[in-house]
Amino acid sequence: MEWQRGHTIGQGSSATVSTATCRTGGGVFAVKSSELSQSESLKREQKILSSLSSPYVVAYKGCDITMENNRLLFNLFMEYMPFGTVAQATHRHGARLEEAALARYTRQILQGLEYLHSKELVHCDIKGANILIGEDGVKIGDLGCAKTVVDSAVVIGGTPMFMAPEVARGEEQGCASDIWSLGCTVVEMATGGAPWPNVEDPFSVLYHIAYSSEVPEIPCFLSKEAKDFLGKCLRRNPQERWRASELLKHPFIGKLCSNNKEGLESDSSSPTSVLEQGFWSSVEESESVGNLINSTRKFEFLAAGRVRMLALSSGAPCWAQHDDDDDDDDDDDDDENWITARRNGVKGFGNCGSGTVSASHELSH
Ligand code: ATP
Repeated sequence: MEWQRGHTIGQGSSATVSTATCRTGGGVFAVKSSELSQSESLKREQKILSSLSSPYVVAYKGCDITMENNRLLFNLFMEYMPFGTVAQATHRHGARLEEAALARYTRQILQGLEYLHSKELVHCDIKGANILIGEDGVKIGDLGCAKTVVDSAVVIGGTPMFMAPEVARGEEQGCASDIWSLGCTVVEMATGGAPWPNVEDPFSVLYHIAYSSEVPEIPCFLSKEAKDFLGKCLRRNPQERWRASELLKHPFIGKLCSNNKEGLESDSSSPTSVLEQGFWSSVEESESVGNLINSTRKFEFLAAGRVRMLALSSGAPCWAQHDDDDDDDDDDDDDENWITARRNGVKGFGNCGSGTVSASHELSH
């Protein structure tokens, strides 16, 4: 297929996403590209996406390799979602979704999750920045972190602000972890803010999620049904969380009739209307939103105990501490067990949103 790259839509931690058109005609599609030599993660995403077909997961349209500006690029083609992400819409303008829109979007995300989970896939990075808005509502995007239920015991990753406690502790990452992240995303959509608004940096967030006994605050202005729904998602014990198929029958979701179009597309406070106010034209600035909430940083944990030590050493608030014999470790002895941050498939680090963590805290080899 001969195609032509259009403007850049988004820049993630591992790839650049642009619009594209086929030279022989047809509509616009999206192309996610990264340098071939650093495209391991994008190739994994391509493999997973190409095996999926759901109206609630962004559709796969093919892949190829091109030479552009003397660089070999791996390109993944997807359907184009014209209204950006839920995070762009809410965070840029502090928009909150009306509850009808919230319920509709939540149902669509859940339908996507139910589908993924039925295929024994865990998304591992559910957050507003990975929920794409189209004409008919939302779809799950960015399967770059996804893995099979079996794999998920091996590598743990995601975005700190949305991580479930068992993930933050580096213990496990299964379907229930996606449900916690969904709960955080519902809070994000409802408030236009972070699920943990008072925690300063990713490491403190991780420590807090891992070792406090708290859950994100459930917005008081929500209906009884919505609050109850969030209560079923945001349980610290993963075994107590409801499954996607159960949540789809919850009154918060169930009260929507299937042809209900009420939601963002017709709602004045919706991201769609925000988009109409011109925010899409400046989407290239999305990286400068300056908000930690959807920091594209992803972490793979090799030793979760280090999270706690890191949080302590970087001046994070102290919560009820989980004392174990890790406390006396000598950092120099086993630094290879620090958190590993992944960026373009290369171990490294950068700005962590509202707080930059020093190199010695971030990575050691
Ligand atoms: P992350 O840092 O979250 O891992 P990433 O490198 O995996 O990001 P994506 O999240 O897939 O990249 O995409 C980056 C941005 O590109 C998204 O936030 C979104 O704005 C835009 N985008 C991605 N896919 C599409 C699509 N199919 N249609 C329209 N825009 C898209």
